[in-house]
Amino acid sequence: MEKLVSLAKRRGFVFQSSEIYGGLGSVWDYGPLGVELKKNLTDRWWQTMVHRRDDIEGVEAAILMHPKVWEASGHVAGFTDPLVDCKQCKNRFRADDDRIKGTPGEEDAQCPECGSRGTLTLPRTFNLMFKTFMGPVEDAAAPIYLRPETAQGSYVNYLNVQQSARQKIPFGIAQVGKAFRNEITPGNFIFRTREFEQMEMQFFVKPGDDEEWFEYWRDERLRWHRELGLDTAKLRFHAHGPDELAHYAKRAEDLEYEFPFGWQELEGIHNRGDYDLSRHQEFSGKKLQYLDPVTNERFVPFVIETALGVGRLLLAVMADAYREEEVDGATRVVMGFHPTLAPIKVGVFPLVKKDGMPELARNVYDGVRKRFRAFYDEKGAIGRRYRRQDEAGTPFGVTIDGESVAEGTVTVRDRDTLQQDRIAVDQLASYLTDRLQP
Ligand code: ATP
Repeated sequence: MEKLVSLAKRRGFVFQSSEIYGGLGSVWDYGPLGVELKKNLTDRWWQTMVHRRDDIEGVEAAILMHPKVWEASGHVAGFTDPLVDCKQCKNRFRADDDRIKGTPGEEDAQCPECGSRGTLTLPRTFNLMFKTFMGPVEDAAAPIYLRPETAQGSYVNYLNVQQSARQKIPFGIAQVGKAFRNEITPGNFIFRTREFEQMEMQFFVKPGDDEEWFEYWRDERLRWHRELGLDTAKLRFHAHGPDELAHYAKRAEDLEYEFPFGWQELEGIHNRGDYDLSRHQEFSGKKLQYLDPVTNERFVPFVIETALGVGRLLLAVMADAYREEEVDGATRVVMGFHPTLAPIKVGVFPLVKKDGMPELARNVYDGVRKRFRAFYDEKGAIGRRYRRQDEAGTPFGVTIDGESVAEGTVTVRDRDTLQQDRIAVDQLASYLTDRLQP
């Protein structure tokens, strides 16, 4: 994990937020390679969930919502974690933190940070929503929350979407957007952060059809992660027992990934029943029923939700891609990303900076980057340039040498097999397209 965190910083995937000021707790920034990888992940999700389906529409709801939304959703009353403080070292922990020995509030309890006994307070509830104020004068302004999930923006818009897009049930609403949670014990790099992005899809179904759709989405989502190239042995489902279910859920399963720090939730599949729409109906006083055009029945749909964190997925993809290999007595670090996810698809290198090679290489680069994210590098020994792209996870390296200038051919190096093919310059585009867009 340390190697991954250090590569992430060194190569510009992830930086600590406000680093020059000492950082901000569990908030991270994406660098030049990270932002490309992240975009490739969200694009791929959007392609599968929205563009390739007739029954799902996209929305982008605002982060700020009417405060009543969060009363209706149950977040004001119930989105809490039990928190304990250490009176000695002032650190805070979730009461269910495995590292706490004994019972918080009692003499036997031991602080996991400073080791003092009897200094942990009784658990008290702590709401995870960030609160801010709307309006110019703080005292008089209305308190408002940063959304802790994107789902509610889809629920309150469900009739707008259904009517404007002329959808019939079953149909879904997909959304990618920021969410905020004031987590008590964030950590493990970008696994649990206070500001994060979610890719959530809410699928509205007829009550009674919900179990079948739950199974459908469970299978679909697993298939999607496998197609990203994630190691199948590192993916499994964990079904929530009755004591683990969230207040809204009828049934829930976590798709877990084996991160370097153990098995953890990557994505949640939830049967939310009619909880959310019924509550919004009650709190807003607006009817949120669906009128079935065939049977003329009116009902509040049930919702099957698929909820995935972008940063958490990015971490899984990076952990999965990282490998070290011995090549010619030296260690090479490779990020073996699936070609469609790789932040840079093609590196272009003149072998040396003379004899017409940089000029031809520039031409080749200009052609390649019309189709693919490419990177031009003429600095340093060719071996080092290859290694730099291996660390960035670039699937192909195109080298322009003396033969290229004389005969109009280039070599294409494959990141994984290290095999080099000699290709005519005018064949390069189709060669790369075949391999990068299978
Ligand atoms: P956890 O049990 O890990 O706190 P959760 O069950 O509260 O997660 P959901 O509310 O179901 O999570 O959120 C859906 C998805 O959003 C999660 O599967 C995860 O990928 C992502 N997610 C939730 N909280 C965070 C966070 N603090 N940082 C990064 N991603 C998060």
